Amino acid sequence: MTTAPPPAQADVAVIGAGPVGLLIALLLGRQGWPVEVLERQATTYGRPRAVHLDHEAARILQNAGIMDDLAPQTEVMDSYLWRNAAGTTLLWLDGAPEVPTVSGWPASSMFHQPDLERLLAEAVGRQPGVRVRTEHNVRDVVVGPAHGAAAGTAAGESVSVRADGPGGVRAEVRARWVIGCDGADSRIRQLAGLDVADHHYQAQWLIVDVRPAEPVLWSPLNVQVCDPARPTTAVSGGPGRRRFEFMRLPGDPQDGFDSPSTAWRLLEPWGLTPANAVLERHALYTFGARLVDRWRRGRLLVAGDAAHQMPPFAGQGLCSGLRDAANLAWKLDLVLGGRAPETLLDSYGTERGSQVRPEIDFSVELGKIICVLDPAAAAARDLDFAPLAEAGPVPLPDRPPLGAGLLLAGDPHAGKVALQAPVSRDGSSHEARLDDATGGGWVLLGYGGDGPDEANPARELPAGLARWWAALGGRCFRLVPGSAPRNSPGAPRDSTVLRDSTGAYGGWFGALERDTVLIRPDSYVFGTAGGPGAAGGLVGALRSALAGAGAENPDAERT
Ligand SMILES: Cc1cc2nc3c(=O)[nH]c(=O)nc-3n(C[C@H](O)[C@H](O)[C@H](O)COP(=O)(O)OP(=O)(O)OC[C@H]3O[C@@H](n4cnc5c(N)ncnc54)[C@H](O)[C@@H]3O)c2cc1C
Repeated sequence: MTTAPPPAQADVAVIGAGPVGLLIALLLGRQGWPVEVLERQATTYGRPRAVHLDHEAARILQNAGIMDDLAPQTEVMDSYLWRNAAGTTLLWLDGAPEVPTVSGWPASSMFHQPDLERLLAEAVGRQPGVRVRTEHNVRDVVVGPAHGAAAGTAAGESVSVRADGPGGVRAEVRARWVIGCDGADSRIRQLAGLDVADHHYQAQWLIVDVRPAEPVLWSPLNVQVCDPARPTTAVSGGPGRRRFEFMRLPGDPQDGFDSPSTAWRLLEPWGLTPANAVLERHALYTFGARLVDRWRRGRLLVAGDAAHQMPPFAGQGLCSGLRDAANLAWKLDLVLGGRAPETLLDSYGTERGSQVRPEIDFSVELGKIICVLDPAAAAARDLDFAPLAEAGPVPLPDRPPLGAGLLLAGDPHAGKVALQAPVSRDGSSHEARLDDATGGGWVLLGYGGDGPDEANPARELPAGLARWWAALGGRCFRLVPGSAPRNSPGAPRDSTVLRDSTGAYGGWFGALERDTVLIRPDSYVFGTAGGPGAAGGLVGALRSALAGAGAENPDAERT
């Protein structure tokens, strides 16, 4: 008889080692929290999935220490064309690779999801406090009394997570918080009793990843063929790879549509055959559109596909999951450390729900354009869209700001992404991205002239607030215009002074009409302020907001 091992203890149990679970585990591990990750599969998911990464997601991965390695394995998207069967352009989305985005990364990059998953797994593997256990299928969770809560940290209940390990051996993890990153059919979502709203979209598509033997110049790089005879997606799958997606039609056979022979038959018109390409992966998916109505119940939370699903036409499912991870990780860090009440976690759902809902709706709307199978309806669609496309490319839509949450009340800039442009350190001509120069985390940034008293948050903060800010891990920086090194050789350098070497911050602060901004660890603006007392006002407002997190909104979990 096999005896079950004693329960493992962790602060956080992450269920599912997909990209979202791995990122949350990595971010918490980097903060020093013990994390147990339970994954039911023995190896990573082998089916073709995400190929598109947006600029915000790239910045999240930058701050997780992943993007330097992933960036060389991406292909920047120039444009995304939607054409009808005759080749007439219906929609021309401009990737505008030459235009800097607010996040400092290309608006859209194409990549291979397994590359990201491998980099995340390697980074997680370097975290001494994070353990990933594969072949552990989580069956059940039981909420019970607290165990081993560190002195001075939030006490209360803990959750016992029960899983079937290899050979059917039962495993148990006791954790203070459980995050279900267990995908679209989430067991944790079900156990938590979180309802899901259906956004009414369903279609089956055959997804095919191909690697041509010789390099091929695809023009356009990314195209949707809105042909009622076979709606088709043909996009980059990262350098050297092509992603094809073929809609399954009502007349297609019930069996065998997901076979290699079907894939090759559909690839042939694109000039791809077994003689000149390798069929790497293929799978038949049923796309849906769903969103949880609550993201947390007690000590159970959900993230990624466990919280939301959308058809892939806008390439936002994974990007949304990475945003979930970035939002949740710093909040859990504060709650675990006893620096904020548990109710802070309610703002996770309110902030993210408002962002994800429009992403789902946009993805569904794009799906409605491409998935028209009736030739007459397709012709009517073409008449509507083609004249619009003649006007030229349209920019990719902006991502929605955060919904209500831990933000400075009444500030129109709160909840938007803070600009990440190149800056240089005082006395150096070397340029770095803002988050790399500051180290990320909580940042108070003032913008002013060269004088040390101009918009200098470090000088302005009253002593009590400065201590609280430092204990939070917050840092102060002063941005000054121009790129010329300020100090003469040998003169002491001020590490809190950054130079706005491209002038981008001058423009940004000018548009804000403020000189000081408080940036959260997930790179969103907490709030902005100007004039004397701006820094103290912002830090004081943050302290109050954290102290009473969620208290003003008893129904905060409902999104
Ligand atoms: C064809 C296709 C194209 C896509 N294109 C894009 C795109 O271009 N851009 C984009 O942003 N997104 C895209 N997506 C969406 C993206 O792939 C997903 O949103 C993303 O993979 C979700 O990651 P996740 O970590 O939340 O879930 P998953 O990757 O599904 O991971 C969940 C993990 O949980 C594990 N698990 C499940 N149940 C249990 C259990 N009971 N116990 C233990 N472990 C469990 C699973 O084995 C799995 O490893 C696409 C998706 C598809 C299908």
